[in-house]
Parts: sequence; C-alpha cells; structure tokens
Amino acid sequence: MQRTTLFVIGIFAIILLAVAGYIVWGPHGSGVRDAATEGSSTVDYYTCPMHPSVRSDRPGICPVCGMALVKDGSALQAAMAMTAAYLPSSGVRDPMHYSPDGSRRARAVDVWAAFQHLGRHGVAALVEQCCRHAARIAAALRDAGHQVLNDVELNQVLVAFGDDARTNRIIAAVQAAGVCWCGGTRWQGRDAMRISVSSWATTDADVDQSVTSILKAAASQ
Ligand SMILES: [Zn+2]
Repeated sequence: MQRTTLFVIGIFAIILLAVAGYIVWGPHGSGVRDAATEGSSTVDYYTCPMHPSVRSDRPGICPVCGMALVKDGSALQAAMAMTAAYLPSSGVRDPMHYSPDGSRRARAVDVWAAFQHLGRHGVAALVEQCCRHAARIAAALRDAGHQVLNDVELNQVLVAFGDDARTNRIIAAVQAAGVCWCGGTRWQGRDAMRISVSSWATTDADVDQSVTSILKAAASQ
C-alpha cells in the first residue's frame, strides 16, 4: 500500500475516532450520562415524566408506560401542573404535576364506561343527585348556624367556622372521625372546609350521617 493511501486512511481514522468521542462524551452526546449530571438543569436527554430512570437521546415513547418522553421538565410541569388551594403539595414529587391525567391513568375510560352504562340521562341524573346532596348539606349547616361561603349551585360546599384556626381544627376533627372526608381550601381570603359530593353511591342517609359528624366536630372545637 502506498504511503499516501496509508496517510489518508490514518487521517480518516483519527477523524472517525474524534467524531465517535464527540458523540459519546460531547455536549450533545448520546444521552448516556453519569451520576455527575444527576439533578442538573442542563442535562441533555429525554426522559419519561413517570419513569425517570428511562433516558433517551431522542424524542420517543416510554417503554414502560407509553407516555411521551420529555426534555424540559419545567416546561412540562408548567403545562401539566394542577394547582388549587384544596390540593396541598405533598412536599415530594407529585405525579399529577407531570401528566395530563392526574394520578390516575386513562380516566377517559371511566367516563366512557359511565356513559355506556348510564346513558346521557343517567349521567345527568347522577350529576343532579350530587348537587342535590350538596344543597342538603349546605342547608343543614346553615340551619345549625354555620357560615356557608359559596352559592351552592353545584356539588361543592364551602363552610367556615369562625376564624381560620378553628375551621382547620374542625376539618381535622371531621377527618379523624372518619364518617366522611372533607379537605380544606382557601376562599376569598379565608380558610374553609370544602365538602365535595362526587360519588354515585352517596345516599340521603350518608348525607345526614356526614352532617351529624361535621356538627359534632364543630361542637367539639
Ligand atoms: Zn413511563
């Protein structure tokens, strides 16, 4: 082989090695990263919002759950996060801030099944039943002298029991009693108990039992 040919092959091999090195270790590399880049905001790979161990150097689909892989976590969170006063942060990574589906997968299947089973009028009746229960709760709490803060048009009742501290003590007492579960929220500058009636299974008797439990908790504080 001529020296010129060897020289060309040599140069070619060096270029090839340089390119390979750049791909593996360079700033826009293969996505294979060591632990030194963990948690850095400048990492350069795509990952699954639900499965952070999945990493890829290109867009694609998570092999575990099928969600789209994303590169910019903050953009994803800005687009997907659900925030409300009655949704307290857990203090750790909340999955519902990273997916369009809250904490549950395929909620559309539930909706589809409900329409299939109940039909249009059945679903309407279910919604009306929940709203009627909420109105019944609001009336009972008002009758007992408590302050219902919102116009109860839907299935939500916000009630305050004097100052914020007392309201929160009563919320804790209701939760401890375990008859029903009501969370807290913030409404027009005040803490409030948020009563949300959303189950098809809730009956008038359940509503009355829940009101009794709430009134007992209020009397205890
Ligand atoms: Zn996944």
